Amino acid sequence: MKIYIDGKYYDQKNAKISVFDHGLLYGDGIFEGIRAYNGRVFKLKEHIDRLFDSAKSILLSLPLSHAEMMRAVVETCRRNKIRDGYIRLLVTRGVGTLGLNPNRCKSPSVVVIADKMQLYPEEFYQKGLDIITVPTTRNLHSALNPAIKSLNYLNNVLAKIEANNGGCEEAVMLNSQGFVAECTGDNLFIVKGNQLSTPSLAAGALYGITRQVVIDLAKESGLTVAEPNLTRYDLFIADECFLTGTGAEIISEVKIDGRVIGSGTPGPVTRGLVEKFRALTNASGQSIYD
Ligand code: PMP
Repeated sequence: MKIYIDGKYYDQKNAKISVFDHGLLYGDGIFEGIRAYNGRVFKLKEHIDRLFDSAKSILLSLPLSHAEMMRAVVETCRRNKIRDGYIRLLVTRGVGTLGLNPNRCKSPSVVVIADKMQLYPEEFYQKGLDIITVPTTRNLHSALNPAIKSLNYLNNVLAKIEANNGGCEEAVMLNSQGFVAECTGDNLFIVKGNQLSTPSLAAGALYGITRQVVIDLAKESGLTVAEPNLTRYDLFIADECFLTGTGAEIISEVKIDGRVIGSGTPGPVTRGLVEKFRALTNASGQSIYD
């Protein structure tokens, strides 16, 4: 595997970041998780747009332009002969002192890792997931806004541990007011009648790229889409529930906190969206090999 670090490519064993990098010392940095399908990078522009938004919000000045960042991702895929894979793009604050102050960090580091990996087993897609609500609430947007895709994922990691302790793969995270925010690494949707609902960004959701794709596909299919405040009750009485994310794609949730959702199997609206999503991922994106 060849890993991109600041314009050069390194073998896996030589791909290293300093222990004085504030990305490691303080989780001070940002990232993107991106997918390649069928020789194309899916929604690359949107991912780089979001990276720039995250950078702006944490006052990190990116060392590459938007176009250069896109090229670094595509070139890393090419060098690793990726046709279908997962790409991790991260930008750390860079090497500083042991102190917290980011103004001691002179230059941010850009890392791109492109790997051939499949996140979830096929069984999850066929049967759907059994998930639980966890005690750790999503970060307050007035403290660390969940819209920033930062390297500081301890909030999500704690929720993931609580899900695992409860025997589940994923967790519903509520916000501090008790409304549904999102899952640990995915956005959440419910279907009720002809309406699709998903928590708003203000409720503590990440502006998910897959979330937006699903909203667009749903509207095209004649569904209405809303972003109301959702409570656990709304999840329990939904016809269908699914989560979305770059790694997970679209996965049905068939049980939440012991309540069977709808029929207890992936529902027709979810299955319809999965089909449309797969067609789109297969046929669009930034070409790697042209
Ligand atoms: N929420 C969180 C907390 C995430 O980390 C992610 C990305 N893994 C998502 C939602 C889904 O976003 P996307 O569809 O852009 O991958």
